[in-house]
Amino acid sequence: MKPSIKVIGVPDDINSSFMRGSKNAPPLIREALYSDSSNLFSESGLDLYQNGIWEDLGDIEFSGEVAVENFKKIKTSIKDVLATGQKLVALGGDHSISWPILDAHLDIWNTLDILHIDAHPDLYDNLLDNKLSHASPFARIMETGRANRLVQVGIRTLNKHQREQAEKFGVEIYQMRNIEGLSAISFSKPVYCSIDVDALDPAYAPGVSHFEPGGLSTRQLIDCINGFKGRLIGADIVEYNPKRDFHNLTAMVAAKLLKEVIARIYHDNR
Ligand code: MN
Ligand code: MN
Repeated sequence: MKPSIKVIGVPDDINSSFMRGSKNAPPLIREALYSDSSNLFSESGLDLYQNGIWEDLGDIEFSGEVAVENFKKIKTSIKDVLATGQKLVALGGDHSISWPILDAHLDIWNTLDILHIDAHPDLYDNLLDNKLSHASPFARIMETGRANRLVQVGIRTLNKHQREQAEKFGVEIYQMRNIEGLSAISFSKPVYCSIDVDALDPAYAPGVSHFEPGGLSTRQLIDCINGFKGRLIGADIVEYNPKRDFHNLTAMVAAKLLKEVIARIYHDNR
């Protein structure tokens, strides 16, 4: 059986507003995944050593640092994979990459429900005069009108502008200050899950560019990924910044999330 879930690295961090470094994440997440300190079983018991479940496609290679060009390359690369009926998990890179990745998914699926787990709503119309900022991907997606729902979890940085944007786009937000009810989240359309590692409290995941205290525990995040009702068809794990990490702790967290996401996609699409 040919593996139907592909993992692809997207080493692009040129749209980061505060600190670069997340482009170095994909190889370190792979290294953590294969670390002898753990194994390749998901919590559900799926054996990811087995052939036929998933395959690593390596990293997208960029020729330069022009955002528009890189986004074109990301969208084309992702769409080529999806067009053959395969599912995809992308490893960032900063969160700006979710816009071309989701744009490709929406071309294939027509509509989607989006579960976005993050400290930040990433709904800026633009930030620092950059419409492609890592603080703006979900504004770009919602403007297209193609997403059925955007549900955000872990948010704790809402300002006036982003509150207005959320209202305008009908975003459903589970803020950290009132996080109950995650297990009741239920989707009717195919679900794409975008995971910004800074959704976690920096105590659990120090390897991020934006420390935002008061976040999710790793346990809460895993339960969120595995707990919603619906069919997961794709995901990204972004914003791991090795420059800020201690003892590869955050790389291990990202690798754990990768295992859980692959397993959920596998179980949901058999
Ligand atoms: Mn983000
Ligand atoms: Mn964030």
